Amino acid sequence: MLMVDYDPSGWNAPEIKPFGPLSLDPTSSCFHYCPCVFEGMKAYLGPDGKPRLFRPELNMARLLRSAVRATLPAFDPAAALELVKRLVAQEARWIPNKPYHGLYIRPTIIGTRPNVGVMPTDDYALFFTVCVPAGPMFKPGSSTPLALLAMEDRVRAWPGGTGAYKLGANYAPAFESQKEAASRGYNQNLWMIGKNQQICEAGIMNFLVVLKREDGSVDLLTPELDGTILPGVTRQSILELARAHTEGRTELDGILPSTKIHTRETLITLPEVREWNAQGKLLEVFACGTAAVVVPIGRIGINDEDIVFPKYEEGYGPVAKALWQRLVAIQEGRIEWEGWSVPCL
Ligand SMILES: *Cc1c(COP(=O)(O)O)cnc(C)c1O
Repeated sequence: MLMVDYDPSGWNAPEIKPFGPLSLDPTSSCFHYCPCVFEGMKAYLGPDGKPRLFRPELNMARLLRSAVRATLPAFDPAAALELVKRLVAQEARWIPNKPYHGLYIRPTIIGTRPNVGVMPTDDYALFFTVCVPAGPMFKPGSSTPLALLAMEDRVRAWPGGTGAYKLGANYAPAFESQKEAASRGYNQNLWMIGKNQQICEAGIMNFLVVLKREDGSVDLLTPELDGTILPGVTRQSILELARAHTEGRTELDGILPSTKIHTRETLITLPEVREWNAQGKLLEVFACGTAAVVVPIGRIGINDEDIVFPKYEEGYGPVAKALWQRLVAIQEGRIEWEGWSVPCL
């Protein structure tokens, strides 16, 4: 694991040492007021056997934004990335050499100020990073689309809150709803906000829909970044790849070059999704994030009703499948695209 201590003198010398428990003062601020921010990234083995990270500078920039939001000390994101690369290079033997496998990396910063006083922790902190080998959450061909439970009386994030940052404090309050969803046979929650049932996210993934247009092209819609949405690296990459296809800069497999994918970041409500589905306009619903990459959504439960979406042979509709396969090919270094896959050595 990688460890870097921060104290009033600044960031100390980084260390890579054997994985093991931390020893912290029980009054450390992270245990009481939750100054804790993290990132989720994956390293993949390229065809050359070298470990690679996917757009890691976006994760480090987001980690810095999260740290600043939680009043943890700032850091140089390029220097932090260099440390994570060194760790991954050293631990590359733990990256499973199989398709759809990777090494999950968890950079974390916690406030370690040893004082129960309720105040910002900008003077004592610990930056650490651990790695865990990870298999695919959803396997190609055998993926059952997700079932999401929408609960009208719960919100994950709210305007002016911290939903746009990866703060540990955002996640524990959602576990109760997650448990309720699981007990009712759903995989995740569909997070919404407001009386108009505005859709935010699918569990800890971003949410997207594909709609049919009269002219044969499609719309790819996702909620806009209004402060309640976590700005996912996967979400951003999907929007950029869809735009590249539509502008003729690349050709996504299984999608005709003449089929334009019009991307839009916009407000989406659950009643709209129900209506588009009833009209036959809704082609695909899916979620995305680092861990699962792209996962199809098969139904959304609300109260005692289930809204059931179109089914596809392998679970994935054509747009989700094309984007998912292209992302994985770039992540695994099989296709080069705009420097997104960054070697660690
Ligand atoms: C991490 C996360 C995502 C996905 O972000 P990626 O950068 O694509 O992994 C989406 N929603 C929430 C709430 C998250 O915590």
